Amino acid sequence: MENLRIDGERLWANLMETARFGGTDDGGVRRLTLTAEDREVRAWLEARALAAGCSVSRDRLGNMFLRRAGRRDDLAPIAMGSHLDTQPTGGKFDGILGVLAGLEVIETLNEAGIETEHPIMLVNWTNEEGSRFAPAMLCSGAWAGVFTEDYVRARTDAKGISFGTALDAVSAAGEAPVGAEDFAAMFELHIEQGPVLEREELTIGVVTGVQGMRWYDLDLTGRAAHAGSTPMDARADALLAASGLIRGASVIASRLGGYATVGELTIRDPSRNVVPGALSMTFDLRHGEDAGLEAMESDLKAQIAGLEPGISADLRQIWSSPPVHFDPGCLASVREAAKSLGHRDMVSGAGHDAAYVARRAPTAMIFVPCAGGLSHNPAESATPEDCAAGAQVLLDALLIHDRRITAPAEAAA
Ligand SMILES: [Zn+2]
Repeated sequence: MENLRIDGERLWANLMETARFGGTDDGGVRRLTLTAEDREVRAWLEARALAAGCSVSRDRLGNMFLRRAGRRDDLAPIAMGSHLDTQPTGGKFDGILGVLAGLEVIETLNEAGIETEHPIMLVNWTNEEGSRFAPAMLCSGAWAGVFTEDYVRARTDAKGISFGTALDAVSAAGEAPVGAEDFAAMFELHIEQGPVLEREELTIGVVTGVQGMRWYDLDLTGRAAHAGSTPMDARADALLAASGLIRGASVIASRLGGYATVGELTIRDPSRNVVPGALSMTFDLRHGEDAGLEAMESDLKAQIAGLEPGISADLRQIWSSPPVHFDPGCLASVREAAKSLGHRDMVSGAGHDAAYVARRAPTAMIFVPCAGGLSHNPAESATPEDCAAGAQVLLDALLIHDRRITAPAEAAA
């Protein structure tokens, strides 16, 4: 079992073959959830899973569960998977790598005639990207109990088509109640979508969790005034105040290992010869730990409190998502599987289905490098060697974990 190797060429061929479903002239993939292209790739996966001897079930939101029986078939399955949908300007790897690597694991086990103790479940989560129907990770969220089935079905796309209508149009829904499946564990392989592994020339990221996020709106009000006749010491310049806050947030984020971004800033009634009197801006703060988020927020508040008296501020937190910490047992299995490869622990900056799955089941993620850290772009790219290494770690982690969580008495039974 220790020398069991996945077939990297077959995995690569499957990645290239499935890139046809929604393939674009620039080499990218545009496969929005619950479209004709999504239906085609789902049918392809289902056919391959059936050919590999899996039983196939779908829940009422179109989440796909492809199950390979275990020796102890009464145990909850160990799951693997990710998503098949893409952004409008998507590539060949984001999401689908984790699904096709799971298929590769199953086909490798079949060829070697290996029976695992736990059943294995390959999952395709519907609507991860959140680009056709917001929010993102909609149906893994529903599985985890974060969203109700009615809420999901009522989401609408830019044309006003509801998720429920789109789901029915491509006949993607099944009979299974949402959330009926329990997992003994779940492993998600994904491209990093950042530059760290490539920069450090490492093959595997052991993803220990997902960053928490806090979003704020801030209104700053000073006093609009003539740009020529208002002395510098007599101004209440809202933009000058904002620039200090942006700089300050950047400094504290760098110091604490977090991220701070001002992505939107709108000056009210802007004019080149008027001192900016009022503006609205956003803050996006991210950190792997609650304490880090807390420290960044209190620093921002302290800076706002310290603004000059002529500037008034109104800060509102409009959304937050707590940091996710993956399961130590699952992480130990991934580390063990990756031990012969260059690897490091890391925290995901992007959201993933695994973040919601972790609310219900022991979960971990595996990252492989992508060129330039680029994703959500037609040029998104990963090497055949790195994809194969990721699938190999997925297989090994699954086998290690299967043994680790099976009690000796059960294994011998
Ligand atoms: Zn993804």
